[in-house]
Amino acid sequence: MQAAMVPGNITIDPLCLALPVEDAEITEVLDLTTGEYLSVNELIGSFRYDHLIEERGKVRSALHSAPLYKCALCPSAVYLVSSPKKRFFFRHLHEDGSCAARTRSALSRDDIRARKYHGLRESEPHRRIKRLIERSLLADPTFRPESVLQEKRWYVAEDRTQWRQPDVQALHVEQRIAFEAQLSTTFLDVVIGRRDDYRKGGAQLVWIMAGFEANYRRLTTDDILFSNNSNVFVVDDETCRLSETNGEFHLRCFYREPYCEGEAIKEQWVERVVRFSELTMEADTQRTFFFNFENAERELLSARDEQLRSDFFALWTESATPESDVMKSWGALRQKLAARSVSIPERPDGNSSFSTMIHGLLSAFKGEPVGWQFQKLVQVAHHIAEMYPQHVLAFAHAIWVAKQQDTIEHQDTKGRWRDRSKKLKQRLKEADPSLMPDQEWLPALCFLFPEVGARVSRFLTKAGEMERNTSQPNVVLVAANKIKAMV
Ligand SMILES: [Zn+2]
Repeated sequence: MQAAMVPGNITIDPLCLALPVEDAEITEVLDLTTGEYLSVNELIGSFRYDHLIEERGKVRSALHSAPLYKCALCPSAVYLVSSPKKRFFFRHLHEDGSCAARTRSALSRDDIRARKYHGLRESEPHRRIKRLIERSLLADPTFRPESVLQEKRWYVAEDRTQWRQPDVQALHVEQRIAFEAQLSTTFLDVVIGRRDDYRKGGAQLVWIMAGFEANYRRLTTDDILFSNNSNVFVVDDETCRLSETNGEFHLRCFYREPYCEGEAIKEQWVERVVRFSELTMEADTQRTFFFNFENAERELLSARDEQLRSDFFALWTESATPESDVMKSWGALRQKLAARSVSIPERPDGNSSFSTMIHGLLSAFKGEPVGWQFQKLVQVAHHIAEMYPQHVLAFAHAIWVAKQQDTIEHQDTKGRWRDRSKKLKQRLKEADPSLMPDQEWLPALCFLFPEVGARVSRFLTKAGEMERNTSQPNVVLVAANKIKAMV
């Protein structure tokens, strides 16, 4: 793991995988969403660092209402905590000594930080940043001047029993905005608590920092950064002057910007002064951002996937007679797909089940046989049903996606396919094991034919849920889970 060592702080590359602590007390948790017991080391290690920080916020937010994880050994809900080295572990919400796992010291680090936090709220740097925010807002006529208030109670609910006291609040047109200064010890409970309350009360929360250093980030900064679409805002003397000169609220924004370098997706930090009117605000997630990191990353990833798919199909049509250069390209493609957890055979003609799946789906999409000597699509359908029943489900969904039902119906002059597909439908409804997809090639199916993969995945999840009640080993659910993450 890449980490910049600065005395007293370790900053983790957001794209690295998260690491668990070495001597975790809680080694297994129950995932209350799926009902699966999970190894804590594997669970934590399966997340990218930035995504785990985001997950940590979600776990905390749900902790008192509908917890996401619970200790495997006792009834307590658990939440994710970071060590000073930014390695992670789970801690009990309630620890009365009855569980073998001990996760709390007399005064936990969270308690210490909470106490420090309350001290800092009275400090001069805190007063200073509040003044800068206030001045910036008063310079901008889109914020009603009489609505710009420091440290005034704001009621979450009508009954006036629940209230918050934002550092600075203002009405932007009709929208109430709460500006909170992020202090060096603002801890996760505070971050989550504010977000949930402001969402409930229909206000929008914007965190403001006094400064930001991309290579020297405290955990408290990461908590805000990664749950805010990787954007953070700073208000300082310079932005405040700009706001006052231009009569418009300016902020300094720092964000991650992804880009492609060959096959690899990398990223850089960008610093830019932006106008408040350029920000996107999402009420449900309480995210406020200038640059949509999440979208940009998704677009790069899907462009890369699209390229891989077209490389595969280009090679597949050439691979009828595998020659050495085709084999070389196939090997390279196989490696790239393996990096996406998608396996294909060693040779294009190396596995007949795989070949049938690809040819069957290509035929469905083209509306005529591809890769066979057959004349008609209905012959492909019969062939698959007879010889490769494991691909019936995918083939049927491909026919539907490609809108080729009529093609088959017209070719089915004697109604043999109609009768057969009726029976197949019934067997699929009962999740007949012989019709369940070839698990080895499921990831390839989902990757190469995403729309078909998504439909097959939904079907399997539904069938698996029904089968959950029976005592048989739940192969359907295992298959469904295997591809759920991909579609
Ligand atoms: Zn426990």
